[in-house]
Amino acid sequence: MQDISELYKGYEDKVIDGRRIASEIEGEVKEKVSVLKDEGVEPALATILVGEHPPSKLYVKLKHWACKRVGIRSIDHKLPEDTSEGELLSLIAELNEDDEVDGILVQMPLPRHIDPLKVMRAVSPAKDVDGFHPSNMGRLMQGDESGLVPCTPKGIMIALERYGIEVQGRHAVVVGHSNIVGKPTAAMLLNRNATLSVCHVYTHDLSHHTRQADILVVATGVKGLIRGDMVKKGAVVFDVGITWIEDRVYGDVEFSEVVDVAGLISPVPGGVGPITIAVLMSHTLKAALSRK
Ligand code: NAD
Repeated sequence: MQDISELYKGYEDKVIDGRRIASEIEGEVKEKVSVLKDEGVEPALATILVGEHPPSKLYVKLKHWACKRVGIRSIDHKLPEDTSEGELLSLIAELNEDDEVDGILVQMPLPRHIDPLKVMRAVSPAKDVDGFHPSNMGRLMQGDESGLVPCTPKGIMIALERYGIEVQGRHAVVVGHSNIVGKPTAAMLLNRNATLSVCHVYTHDLSHHTRQADILVVATGVKGLIRGDMVKKGAVVFDVGITWIEDRVYGDVEFSEVVDVAGLISPVPGGVGPITIAVLMSHTLKAALSRK
């Protein structure tokens, strides 16, 4: 793992420390899991990984380690790359029926021959710890975030709260419009009364939009897309993108340039990644609480 304290030395007051927030959330989850276990309920998360995509394998492993840290039982389903859509849907149906399983996480992206929307619809909304089921997404769009919502956007909202950043009335710009990050992040910012722009690969003159952002969230997977001259002075910047080159991860934001312009920056690594996993733990706990 890259040493964060070395990477961001001298910029500690500008960096949103995702590992610290994650460890606070995990501490809260661990305490509640322990109470639940004393009452005879052992929260359990089942993960499903299809294929051999190395970053996905790592993300699933990190999720299992987090389960161990907070006392959640984890169940590991690894399926070969050529698993059919029907086989995957049958496994999900089995897990939906299993009273000992609280959360089901299907690691994205899936191989091309499997329709991710069908998979998102197949997971029972009550066990949908990733918050991708249309009924959970629909509630989010209606402004109700009390249920299960997507983990990365939720993690960004938690970071905004914990750093005391006002959202109401501020201009937020989200770059990326995926179902996993961009769209739910946009919905959550709107729910908090931000003025919102959403940009994507077809947006003309991206920097015209990003320069207006008081809060800038970037989730594209394009390494170094956001340069220093694309950011407004004092903006709060969340870098969500992850690009692996050899054994290192890089974000969508050119940290060395943007850190001097931004007021605060959530970097890669050590920003929203660890918070996302901690939120997943809290969602598994939430799903388990409904078993009582
Ligand atoms: P995606 O890969 O499904 O889609 C990419 C998005 O970026 C699209 O909306 C596309 O229009 C936009 N885009 C691509 N090139 C662009 C460009 N040049 N200019 C402007 N927009 C552009 O999106 P995703 O699944 O949200 O993933 C995005 C990135 O975030 C990936 O690197 C992924 O690994 C990372 N990610 C990180 C976490 C985490 O926990 N840290 C979680 C989810 C995704």
